[in-house]
Amino acid sequence: MPAIPQTTLPPLFPLFADLRGRRVLVVGGGGVAQRKCEALLEAGAHVVVGALELAPTLAHWARQGRIEHLAGDFTPAWLDDAWLAIAATDDPAINHAVIAVADARRIWANAVDDAEISRFHMPARITRGSLQIAISSGGGAPMLARLVREQLETQFDESFGALAELLTRHRQRIRARWPDMDARRRGFSRLLAGPLQALLRRRQHIAAEHAFDQALRADDALAVRGSVALVGAGPGDPGLLTLRGLRVLNEADVILHDRLVSDEVLALARRDAERISVGKQAGDGGHSQSRINALLIEHARAGKRVVRLKGGDAFVFGRGGEELEALQAAGIPFEVVPGITAALACAAYAGIPLTHRAHAQSLQLVTAHGQDSLDRLDWPSLAAGNQTLAFYMGVAGLERIREQLIEHGRAPDTPFALVENGSRPEQRVIVGPLSDMPLLARSHDVRAPALLIVGEVAALALRLHWFASEPLTTAGAGCDATARLACVADIAKAA
Ligand code: SAH
Repeated sequence: MPAIPQTTLPPLFPLFADLRGRRVLVVGGGGVAQRKCEALLEAGAHVVVGALELAPTLAHWARQGRIEHLAGDFTPAWLDDAWLAIAATDDPAINHAVIAVADARRIWANAVDDAEISRFHMPARITRGSLQIAISSGGGAPMLARLVREQLETQFDESFGALAELLTRHRQRIRARWPDMDARRRGFSRLLAGPLQALLRRRQHIAAEHAFDQALRADDALAVRGSVALVGAGPGDPGLLTLRGLRVLNEADVILHDRLVSDEVLALARRDAERISVGKQAGDGGHSQSRINALLIEHARAGKRVVRLKGGDAFVFGRGGEELEALQAAGIPFEVVPGITAALACAAYAGIPLTHRAHAQSLQLVTAHGQDSLDRLDWPSLAAGNQTLAFYMGVAGLERIREQLIEHGRAPDTPFALVENGSRPEQRVIVGPLSDMPLLARSHDVRAPALLIVGEVAALALRLHWFASEPLTTAGAGCDATARLACVADIAKAA
């Protein structure tokens, strides 16, 4: 172990104290004292508050008998029979006096916001039921402790509380099942690798009890049961992954991802997870859907925690339903974590509100993938006014989309916005009137992934733009689109 530098103080000794029914003195009657009282009451302490006056909430608690009030100025007698003391006044002299008297009587004391004279510190903490994580910087850098707390807060969801509760309740059975420490440790890690926690996360408490019973009964030599999490990775910006998605990625053994999933999102996953790209490149067919289903089942059957990671949301043009049906038929347990779908992300990052009281009362998400699906669309309904359309996979079909919408009555000067690489640093937004859409897209060489938004709201990108480069509004040299753009700009002004 490296030598500790001379100037460093020895670390504080961490301990969790059982305060149930024990007398604890809090000196001070303001907001700070109230927060300390709250934590102490939560731990079941007998809280005595010494202060001239109590703030309204503390006074209310005193009337209810939740706390005891000692009125007046601090006197050493307040510390009689106390196990702990907290000086929470805004007068340093009083806080010092409390610490001095407590010291003389060997009562542990804390002065709020004064690490130097405090004999014990209250840590920053994360609470999930009876499971607590306490963080201390030794009083030297409370902001750092808070920062660490915030980071940890995102990593532990509520299922840890439920898990702690379940394990506490069955403590005797667990000990009886694995009397030997080593066997217990092995049994435990197998128990936690199984579906138990995922079931608790899904609030399926009865199924969780069954899974626990099963794990306890299982032959120690048997392999764990795998599972699949279908996770929406969002549009590319890793900040748009959900907390739950991140947690699941942290636990993954195997990740099967699409081409649309950004490297930045993949980088957030557990380092030693196996990553398998099953993306379909245009034309190469990639992995067929049945091959992907087979891979998911194969890895889950091998006892792996599999994450199926998809761009955007798995249930929006993501074939998530087909994959779940295959898993269900194979008896593999699964869960679904939603993601931010391209329409929401592209609109947000282009400054386009998808609905607007003046222009759009509804929104349609449309797939424009291939001639067939374009032919099957309900064009009269899509061409109706007062709505916003979001076309996925539409780059190749722009000519036809324009033609059909105008033919069925949508005005040729209806604004559109094409959002290429939405939410990514290289995002481009092209805005213009519907009539010029294919021309503008060609002249800017728009490529997939791009999302097409049609409707009056699209013009707002000109005013509400906030992310990456300015919207492009004119075609290359020699085009006549520029003049017609004026009408789009007018709509933006009026909106
Ligand atoms: N399940 C995905 C959609 C998959 S279909 C979702 O919920 O977003 C693929 C299409 O999504 C692309 O052709 C494109 O139209 C759109 N798309 C996905 N990510 C995008 C992005 N970052 N920028 C623009 N369009 C995107």
